Amino acid sequence: MTETGNAELQDFLEQAYGVSRSVFETVAAGERELADTFREIDARARTHQARVLAAFQRCGVASRHFSGSTGYGYGDEGRDKLCEVYAEVFGAEDAIVSPLIMSGTHAISEALFGVLRPGDELLCITGEPYDTLRPVLRGGQGSLADYQIRSGAVPLQADGSINIEAAESRIRPETRMIYLQRSTGYDLRPAFTVEQLEEAIRRLRRHHPDCIYMVDNCYGEFVNDREPPAAGADLIAGSLIKNAGGGLAPTGGYIAGRHDLVELVGSRYAAPGVAREIGSYTPGYQAFFQGLFLAPHTVAQALKGVTLAAQIFAGLGFEVSPTADAVRGDITQTILFRDPEALTAFVRGVQRAAPVDAHVVPYAWDMPGYEDQVIMAAGTFVQGASLEYTADGPIRPPFAAYLQGGLTYEHAFIAVALAAADVLASR
Ligand SMILES: *Cc1c(COP(=O)(O)O)cnc(C)c1O
Repeated sequence: MTETGNAELQDFLEQAYGVSRSVFETVAAGERELADTFREIDARARTHQARVLAAFQRCGVASRHFSGSTGYGYGDEGRDKLCEVYAEVFGAEDAIVSPLIMSGTHAISEALFGVLRPGDELLCITGEPYDTLRPVLRGGQGSLADYQIRSGAVPLQADGSINIEAAESRIRPETRMIYLQRSTGYDLRPAFTVEQLEEAIRRLRRHHPDCIYMVDNCYGEFVNDREPPAAGADLIAGSLIKNAGGGLAPTGGYIAGRHDLVELVGSRYAAPGVAREIGSYTPGYQAFFQGLFLAPHTVAQALKGVTLAAQIFAGLGFEVSPTADAVRGDITQTILFRDPEALTAFVRGVQRAAPVDAHVVPYAWDMPGYEDQVIMAAGTFVQGASLEYTADGPIRPPFAAYLQGGLTYEHAFIAVALAAADVLASR
């Protein structure tokens, strides 16, 4: 039996996209089993929405802050107000938010180069950091290593948790920064929740109070009850074409945290002396404010979408991480296809369901910054925006697809149905 409206949708998806009745029924049944989980996600979004709303009001956001600026951008009120609102929303003392930060990697890189000095060491305690960060740390020219800033990584325990004891014993006098990556990246582990990050920071800080505790917050914003600065992190960074931009920000990144550290980052990201006094953006800031306002809702849509995918693909016999009933720390979903054909069919199914470039057939390619060939579905309004429904997977065992985002749950539902149909057809 289908719910009201579902019969029409089933007919439509069958005619337009060849989704069979049985695949549709599978997805609809999976959705019904998730009713309680979805209620929790919606309830959390409401709390975040209230906090964001109050932050806008406390900061006195006004329509004049949407105006763009030119040249040096002296006295650009929108730029400064956006930083203020972000700091407020994230429970941080200060923030730099800018469309002039080109990506999440750029934001994190600015934070690292801003606060670390030659002779310092960065210790990543969540295993090896995300692929695009590796050249920043240990690449050649211009990397941290090139400036005599060393870096190390503490592997995670077999169950995917942080090895606090091993981290303790690895910290040396020159270890200036403890770095934690919240999201999964291309690792096969669940994302860390803010609560787990808090526990690690609290325990390490007892003996190492002078270290800077930094969190790569990519994909994590508005997923848990609090953001990392409210849980002990000194500094966080992330991308505006992921969660925090709410799907509207066309580009940009942010760094937030302790005032003294954000000031250091300011001197690096602009230039010493002019630091945070300059920086114009002619198109204006409305999309950034409006995107932040929408972000709690959009993140909830994405969470429901990936949870549905977990439920459906687990039901089809694939290993998924996290499982549909797990507490999530980010908006990503890993599905292990264990087979390049099924992975390819899945990614092509997601692309087929995209609002943009749906006619493009994805092929694996050598993406800059990544070690293996990667196949990706990225039919997005904003290029590479992974708060939009996107999937990618490196062509290496276990042939895992990394699915993320979804601007609307409705779209995610349709995409799951199409991708499931295509994966089943590939077997
Ligand atoms: C997306 C992401 C980044 C930054 O990537 P960009 O593509 O440069 O925005 C960094 N770390 C993690 C874990 C990420 O998911």
